[in-house]
Amino acid sequence: MTIYEVQAWLMRLGHNLMKKHIIHDPNTMWDKMEPKLGDVFESIAQLKFCVQNYAVTNGYGLYYEKCDSKRLVVRCGKWKQVNDCPYRLYAGWMFNEKSLQVNTLEENHKCSRKFKFGSMITPEWIG
Ligand SMILES: [Zn+2]
Repeated sequence: MTIYEVQAWLMRLGHNLMKKHIIHDPNTMWDKMEPKLGDVFESIAQLKFCVQNYAVTNGYGLYYEKCDSKRLVVRCGKWKQVNDCPYRLYAGWMFNEKSLQVNTLEENHKCSRKFKFGSMITPEWIG
């Protein structure tokens, strides 16, 4: 059973939860990728790919705190160091244990980014 079939099945049942599920589109441009609350991914590789592209595009130091048969937890900051960035992403397996859903997301960063697009252009540079 694919996640698309599961979605169709749940919609027929009038499953309310399903309304906020968005099946992640793997054809999204890599620099437009951003994991969102409720997103459903076909595989853990697909979710990791999305998270990595999101991190690279935005300059966040994301890492996988947990990745096991129950869930994937993404945090922001330096691995195993104290950091106060509240970014958290929890994704859990659903239905057939092939699909993952982002079921908790705190998407506001307080970290300083490693780099910023546009930060190269400062008044000093222009002047
Ligand atoms: Zn952060």
